[in-house]
Formats: sequence, C-alpha cells, structure tokens
Amino acid sequence: RAKQEGRNRFCFFSHDLENAMMERHHLETCLRKALINNQLFVHYQPKFDLQTNAIVGAEALARLVNDEGVCISPTEFIPLAEESGLIILLGKQVLNKACAEAKRWLDMGHAIPISVNVAAAQFTDSSLPCVIKDALLSHGLPAHLLELEITETALMVDAAEMQNRLSELTSLGIKISIDDFGTGYSSLAYLKKFNVDVMKIDMSFIKDMLNNKHDYEIVKTIISLGKSMGLVLIAEGVETEAQRYALIELGCFMGQGYLFSRPLMTIDFETLLLQNQLLEV
Ligand code: C2E
Ligand code: MG
Ligand code: MG
Ligand code: MG
Repeated sequence: RAKQEGRNRFCFFSHDLENAMMERHHLETCLRKALINNQLFVHYQPKFDLQTNAIVGAEALARLVNDEGVCISPTEFIPLAEESGLIILLGKQVLNKACAEAKRWLDMGHAIPISVNVAAAQFTDSSLPCVIKDALLSHGLPAHLLELEITETALMVDAAEMQNRLSELTSLGIKISIDDFGTGYSSLAYLKKFNVDVMKIDMSFIKDMLNNKHDYEIVKTIISLGKSMGLVLIAEGVETEAQRYALIELGCFMGQGYLFSRPLMTIDFETLLLQNQLLEV
C-alpha cells in the first residue's frame, strides 16, 4: 500500500510540475510575442514633493497584457525575463518608450525626470552604455532627465567591475538611484565608493514605520545615512498622510505611492501633469 501511495504521490507532484512548466512556457511565449511586436506597455508612476505636492519625477513600470486581456504583474514576468535572457530586449524597449515620453513631456513644458528600472543582467551587459546613448540621442532627451534604478544586490555582483560601469554611465550625464534600499546586501563601504545620486527607501519599511518601532528607526537611519552622503532621498509606497508627515519630519522630502497616485497610462499621466501645473499657478 505504501508503495502505491508513494507512486500516486509521485504522479501528483509530477502533474503539478508539468502544469507549472506549461504555465511558465505560456507566459514566456506571451512575453516573447509582446516584445517582438513591440506591444509591451509602460505605466508611469509620478514622484511627488511631499511638502508641495508638485510632481518631481516619474518611474517607468513595465506592463504585460496577455491574449485574454489580463494584465500580468512584473513581479511574475520580470524574473522570467531575467531567466530567459529576454530582459535585455525588454529593458531596451522600456527605456526607449520612457525616453520618448519624457521628451514629449519636456516639449509640453514639463522637465520631468524619468527613471527606468535596470535588472542586474542589463547592468552587467556591456552594451548598456551604448543602448542608453542611442535612446537619448534618437529621442532627443537631455541626459540629466534620465535616471536608472538599480538594486543594491545588482550593484554587488562584482563590486570592482560595477564601479567602472557606474562611472561609465554617470559620465553620460544620467542619474543613478539605488532601488529598494535596505532590503539587499548593502555594504556601507561600497556605498561610499559607488557614485550614486538617489536612494529609494524600500516600501516594506515605510509600510509599518508608524506602528513598528524598528521600522521607524530603520527609516530614520536610512534618511540620515543618505543625507550625510549627500544623496537625494525618496520614500517608496507612501500610502497615508501620517506617513507623509513623518517622512517630512525625518527629512525625506520626496515620495511615491498610492497616497498620491498609482502607476498611470501615459494619457492619464499627462492629465495629472496639467492639473499639477494648474495647482502651482
Ligand atoms: P520597484 O521598481 O520597486 O517599483 C515599485 C513598485 O511598487 C511598483 O510595482 C509600484 O506599482 C508599486 N507601488 C508604488 N506605490 C505603491 C504603494 O503605495 N503601495 C504598494 N503596495 N505598492 C506600490 P510594479 O509595477 O508591480 O513593479 C514591481 C517591480 O517589478 C518593480 O519594483 C521592479 O523591480 C520590477 N519592474 C517593473 N518594471 C520593470 C522594468 O521595466 N524593468 C525591470 N528590470 N524591472 C521592472
Ligand atoms: Mg524601481
Ligand atoms: Mg523599489
Ligand atoms: Mg521593488
């Protein structure tokens, strides 16, 4: 009987595995198709001045819609893109769409810096500086309006090489920010060596900063670290007014999150830009 159960169990697991593999294959096909047809979407989440409510930037976030019209989360398809190597093409497409949008905003009279997420595999790819130069040139976007968001973990892959890569990129005139700060492997010694401009405080710390003493202390410490290194600080995932005020009090003056806006389709982002402008006048 035990033998039979064991066999059944094996069948059960192998069936599960088969389903998972089929699902993965399906998603990869869907992603590949979207990339070949240049049909990946990009949404834009505004970044705000916490004190004035002015829009001070935007983050480009990839969106994939499958054949049934269902939107698939980047937390699902980005890891898959990284494993399959499609991330290089994906990154290039998001970068070019984002540069095109930022140039349109600029032509509308809004010099809004755009930030684009860069995966570790893109960052180590030697063609990245060329891809960026091409994107800036072909869309006519000034380099200082482009920012790359890189996670600490991606920076630590090969610290010595990364330092060269970073100077290569910053010499183009673009900005570099560390994404999800505090969740990766942050060696403070490396942080000092790396030439970065912006520190994004991970939303996991913001989430509970007002009901968890430890999270509050972590946010406080990250802010004072960032400030002492002369970096611009941005809080991710700001969802409440109370968090906004607490951040201002601690000396962090920029944020993004559902309190202000979700990531938006480009047309909605433009409407928000116009409203924002009216607010300021
Ligand atoms: P991320 O770069 O840290 O982006 C922030 C994520 O937080 C976004 O999720 C955004 O929609 C979400 N978010 C913003 N405000 C709030 C809030 O107030 N509350 C909560 N709960 N969430 C908030 P999204 O768009 O699902 O992207 C997830 C991750 O996927 C990104 O994290 C980034 O690591 C990756 N990703 C997205 N697009 C790209 C891309 O084009 N290239 C690469 N390499 N990675 C990307
Ligand atoms: Mg990001
Ligand atoms: Mg982040
Ligand atoms: Mg993240």
